[in-house]
Amino acid sequence: MIPHFLVELGYLVASAFFIVGLKWLGSPATAPRGNRLSSIGMLLAIVITLVDIEILSWTNVLIGMVIGSALGLWMARSVKMTSMPQMVALLNGFGGGASLLVASAEYLKPRLLGEAIATGTGVTIQLSILIGAVTLSGSLIAWAKLQEVMTGKPITWPGQQFFNAVIFLGIVALGVMLVVQGDAPMWMLAAVIGLALLLGVFLVIPIGGADMPVVISLLNSYSGIAAAMTGFVIDNHVLIIAGALVGSSGIILTRIMCKAMNRSLSNVLFGAFGGGGAAGGGGASAEGLSVRSISVEDAAVQLAYARTLIVVPGYGLAVAQAQHVVRELAELVARNGGQVKYAIHPVAGRMPGHMNVLLAEANVPYDQLYDMDQINDQFEQADVALVIGANDVVNPAARSDPSSPIYGMPILDVDKAKSIIVMKRGMNPGFAGIENALFYHPRTAMLFGDAKQSLTRLVAEIKSL
Ligand code: NAP
Repeated sequence: MIPHFLVELGYLVASAFFIVGLKWLGSPATAPRGNRLSSIGMLLAIVITLVDIEILSWTNVLIGMVIGSALGLWMARSVKMTSMPQMVALLNGFGGGASLLVASAEYLKPRLLGEAIATGTGVTIQLSILIGAVTLSGSLIAWAKLQEVMTGKPITWPGQQFFNAVIFLGIVALGVMLVVQGDAPMWMLAAVIGLALLLGVFLVIPIGGADMPVVISLLNSYSGIAAAMTGFVIDNHVLIIAGALVGSSGIILTRIMCKAMNRSLSNVLFGAFGGGGAAGGGGASAEGLSVRSISVEDAAVQLAYARTLIVVPGYGLAVAQAQHVVRELAELVARNGGQVKYAIHPVAGRMPGHMNVLLAEANVPYDQLYDMDQINDQFEQADVALVIGANDVVNPAARSDPSSPIYGMPILDVDKAKSIIVMKRGMNPGFAGIENALFYHPRTAMLFGDAKQSLTRLVAEIKSL
């Protein structure tokens, strides 16, 4: 046992580390430091709790920590950048699962000892079980969709939302009985857990695979709320604070993503976007328009003599893993006296901050990265805008075509540049499944091919000029 005030002081320090860590995560330059500080805060909170409560023997604690750390290290080191959303989904699910287990144990313990549970605690336990179970099964479905273990297409059927509402009401009815009846039969607890797990599955299967990052962020928020609830149940202040931080930051991130796509959360959750309905529907038609392609040699000349180059990275850059070559190309342009800037759209790629992380991995200087609001009025002065594997985030239909599914989504104003080079493999649409008028623009030239291969050839060509 540690004196109470020392426990609370330790928790306060850990909470301060979480808050400062979160603040530092706000910029790519300080994000690694923020990550480390938050992890130290978590270690502190865990060690204080274990020493204070003496739940386990030290041998068990050390074995658990070594296995957990080794697994975490292996996962973090081996995960591909494009598979990060799946990993986050899995870790979220574990968070929800932990809350589910702790809350169930807190219900069972007094029952087995024949003690009564206060109504307030009972309600919190039931909420923690519900949110924890929904987070666990929902996150596992999100993982399965992204890992392509199951279809990424929305699975829908008539009356789906009514069906979910019935399950939810069933959980509420059983939960109320468990709180009110001190001697409620145990099958009711099992039924609440089973139904809540089922609800998590049914809430996520109608959502398209490409919308999973938004869902994961929302489930992340749920896991935080579940943890905060559990904190109330076991009267642990640091768990309440950490849960509240995760809950609120998850919901803020969800909002940022929805806003950047100009979609409401209900459209993401119930709109079954990406099921083929959007493809071909609305947006510009390519009929009668022609595309101008450019050779590597001609593109290299344009880039070599550009005074201002704005690179616009997108999902294709991540798929091609071309981040290192793009930095090499930018260095060559800079050596020739050109100024290089990277334009970062908030939802470019498939997870928030995808492009920042990708470019940071290739040591692209942070001061060359510009947010959409900072760079949009600079496209007009750019000699060349080089679009690498980006599609929806540069689609002018979002500005001009009210019938387009992405109408209203803020985009990078690439079409205003003096010359535009678009690098992609063919004419495939992006995530939204729609035509892009930018590719048919008179100032646009298409450099077809895998982004990494094309960039490697461009680098070689510029070197030989
Ligand atoms: P995008 O619209 O999905 O387009 C990516 C393009 O990359 C495709 O058109 C594809 O064309 C090309 N590509 C794929 N592999 C390539 C390769 N190896 N080399 C070269 N090109 C390649 O991507 P985006 O412009 O980044 O937009 C992101 C989309 O995802 C937005 O619609 C956004 O709303 C959505 N989204 C993002 C998030 C997030 O958190 N970031 C979350 C949910 C949804 P080809 O096949 O012809 O090469």
